[in-house]
Amino acid sequence: MSNYNRQKIVDSVPQKGFFGHPKGLFTLFFTEFWERFSYYGMRAILVYYMYYEVSKGGLGLDENLALSIMSIYGSLVYMSGIIGGWLADRIFGTSKAVFYGGILIMLGHIVLAIPGSVAMFFVSMVLIVLGTGMLKPNVSTVVGEMYSETDERRDAGFTIFYMGINAGAFLSPLIVGSVMDYSFHLGFGIAAVGMFLGLVMFVLTKKKNLGLAGTTIPNPLSKAEKKKTFTFIGLGVVVLAVLCAVLIPMGVLTFASFINIVTFLGILIPTIYFVVMYRSPKTTTVERSRIIAYIPLFIAAVMFWSIQEQGSTILASYADKRTQLDWMGIHISPAWFQSLNPLFIIVFAPVFAGLWMKLGKRQPTVPQKFSLSLLFAGLSFLVILIPAYLGGTDSLVSPMWLVLSYLIVVFGELCMSPVGLSATTKLAPAAFSAQTMSLWFLASAAAQALNAQVVKFYSPENEMAYFGSIGGAAIVLSIILFALAPKIQGLMKGIR
Ligand code: GLU
Ligand code: ASP
Repeated sequence: MSNYNRQKIVDSVPQKGFFGHPKGLFTLFFTEFWERFSYYGMRAILVYYMYYEVSKGGLGLDENLALSIMSIYGSLVYMSGIIGGWLADRIFGTSKAVFYGGILIMLGHIVLAIPGSVAMFFVSMVLIVLGTGMLKPNVSTVVGEMYSETDERRDAGFTIFYMGINAGAFLSPLIVGSVMDYSFHLGFGIAAVGMFLGLVMFVLTKKKNLGLAGTTIPNPLSKAEKKKTFTFIGLGVVVLAVLCAVLIPMGVLTFASFINIVTFLGILIPTIYFVVMYRSPKTTTVERSRIIAYIPLFIAAVMFWSIQEQGSTILASYADKRTQLDWMGIHISPAWFQSLNPLFIIVFAPVFAGLWMKLGKRQPTVPQKFSLSLLFAGLSFLVILIPAYLGGTDSLVSPMWLVLSYLIVVFGELCMSPVGLSATTKLAPAAFSAQTMSLWFLASAAAQALNAQVVKFYSPENEMAYFGSIGGAAIVLSIILFALAPKIQGLMKGIR
């Protein structure tokens, strides 16, 4: 997008009106609030819906399979951001992509809200994966579009937006978890209503608050390209449908093989990104060095998100099966534990921001912060070894152990999540800047693609080995990264 257009967009957005920020931030904050409300509410009960017996309202799937499906689901949701980014860039523009994405997500939750079969579940999964891919990266891009390049409020704007994400993620598991024992479908229905409210809010306020932000198509397809692309997509869909129709009855395409394909893609796609960026003639020598520096950071991010995302898979199962849920006279829903991560994020994000500010130039460098986040991630798994060590794996443990684990991982998340996106935007070559949002989400996609394999090894009987080896691996990686930090910093060529 040319500079002229950029400034024109900024000028069209009322620059004040939401905590001293552009008015559009109100619209985007609540759109993303409701989208995350529905996503994390759905995820808080989905794993139980899959493995609870049919008599308890579930689908009665094998538990490890359910955990793998949760992981590939999470992976696909972030992988599809590439498609969402492309559609916004070349066909719809970001604002329309957000709207269509929201509609698909809402439909996905509605399908889940109707009592049905495993097949219905997969239909909803496709809708939510595509919808989130269209909404999530694009809504964040519009946040960036509202500020001029030199606007000092930009980082603070993203922090407020990040609070919206976590406020939505905090509220919904509490509500949805409370109705889960009564009916899973009611829970999914609540997620659908959340997305509906987000859409209404978006549509009603976007014209007034967002001005031209999100309305331009940065690199529109020409007529000839459109024809070619649509033919290609049409053919692709037909080929895929035929392949599924043939391979599923033959027993070649099964749950297991599908999970393997997603794991493979989760690793392949970021690898292709790196190779293409590195070899592109548009990439300068300095930018090449920065790409090399980004690789260990990306690997660290994958390890971090692998542990953080197990908070909604393995730890969700731990909450259900290994934790005392009747505690101090109240019955705790296992889904409520999903509110802890966002709660701690909201409480501690200002503390960390203040700490970095106070440390100023003495604050850890980006690679050191990534190393710290791995240390916390590792510790968050090792801490769960203590109750198993003290009381064995047969008796139920106090919920406080899980609370502690979710707290520790959040310390890591605050060293990684706000730092990572900004580091990605600075380290990615200029020619690829439009894709950086998708690139950062690919770390979460790769992490969960790997989790789909890793979670197969979990069972309450071997939990000490499971948490011990993954937590230990994160700490070893943290130490290696810490040792390499000065070297990586050098390769970053002046970026801090
Ligand atoms: N939990 C954050 C969100 O949902 C971060 C996502 C990620 O990068 O994995 O927006
Ligand atoms: N902390 C996550 C994110 O920033 C939310 C979650 O895992 O519930 O959105």
